[in-house]
Amino acid sequence: MLQEHYFEDEFLVRKQGAIFTRKRGYEFRLPKKNKSVILFLSGGLDSVSLWYLLLKKYKLHVYPLYVDDGSSHTASEKKSIEFFSKLFKKLFSSHFHSHYYLSGQVFFSFQNISRKSIFNDENLIFSNVNLQKPNDAQPVVLPTNPARLFYYAALGYEYLLHLKYALGVKINTVIVGITPSDSISLRESTRAVLRSINVALCSVLGDYSIQFIGPLEKEGNFYYRKHDLVSRAVIDNIPIHKTWSCVSQRAIHCGQCPNCRTRKRIFAETGLIDNTNYQKIFSLLTTAEKIKYRLRRIFAKYSLINTKKNTYLQIDKSISIPPHIKWKDYGEKVVVYNKFNLKIKEFMASSLIIWRTLQKRNTSLASLLVSMRKEYPGEKVSILENDLRLFLELCLKDGFIKQ
Ligand SMILES: [Zn+2]
Repeated sequence: MLQEHYFEDEFLVRKQGAIFTRKRGYEFRLPKKNKSVILFLSGGLDSVSLWYLLLKKYKLHVYPLYVDDGSSHTASEKKSIEFFSKLFKKLFSSHFHSHYYLSGQVFFSFQNISRKSIFNDENLIFSNVNLQKPNDAQPVVLPTNPARLFYYAALGYEYLLHLKYALGVKINTVIVGITPSDSISLRESTRAVLRSINVALCSVLGDYSIQFIGPLEKEGNFYYRKHDLVSRAVIDNIPIHKTWSCVSQRAIHCGQCPNCRTRKRIFAETGLIDNTNYQKIFSLLTTAEKIKYRLRRIFAKYSLINTKKNTYLQIDKSISIPPHIKWKDYGEKVVVYNKFNLKIKEFMASSLIIWRTLQKRNTSLASLLVSMRKEYPGEKVSILENDLRLFLELCLKDGFIKQ
């Protein structure tokens, strides 16, 4: 359970709940059958499944809104939205409403220059590293447009006003397809953040009836994990594999990027058949090619371990951490970040003594060994030296240190 809410802040959630209760008499209330809501659509697995659920189970009038952030995969996302628009129009003719495309490219954080600077800011990076991430999650969990939810909330509200005055549609709820497990990898994907933005919006407008929510409301009976959403759609024969998750520019899902890996995992864990067309890489190889590939990998590892035979490290030459390398002590781990190539690596806490010593000027293998011997007085010197050499060789290879 703790894993499902890594970035969640229950303290904030409770405080914001108290604000809503005081200002409007309730914390959260999903609109009743036949009422209208705005739904942010990305064309992905979660938002499309949620779209289906809102129409099918809750019988709500759904007004989908899509923000085009100018990224490379928007064409594929739009294709997904067009497909499901056609389908849902047929299935739910009485509650279906066409989607609206908005261009988000006017915002600063959507521009390429910001993206580069964001990943250069180690304070921002380190505060968004999740050490409990599942295998398929990115170590750096910062979206390229970190303030996007604020924009979305404001855009949602303006769309709400448009619907009210142009079409006479009364709406007070804007929904985003954020699921509980998203908070493992994204700080923005928490109830605390959604509610913070919601409180800010309400106080700006002086209208506390406005709700900016995701399916994260357990007490309010509106709580859906990815699995719940996807299985419901698949069981009802909705061709959910036509949604788009991939961040690559390919015509079909790459199968390798973090989004594709999460997508595969969701299907695998639910036991549902994944009909997504993934680019086949390894499975296309012949058996002989597969064996060759595996052998090459084994030998690559083997030669790495044996680098100490023809070591690059010199005993008395100074070793240092280049200025573009940043590290942070997390207690149970040390996290090292390369600002140039965005590479992040986690090291065991036992390496802390090495990082600390490396930070001093004129550190060499010899002086590192002295620190190690002080830290581990009972350990054999030859073993310490071997471990230290191996560690430094790997760091040297990854560019985390230089000599
Ligand atoms: Zn992909």
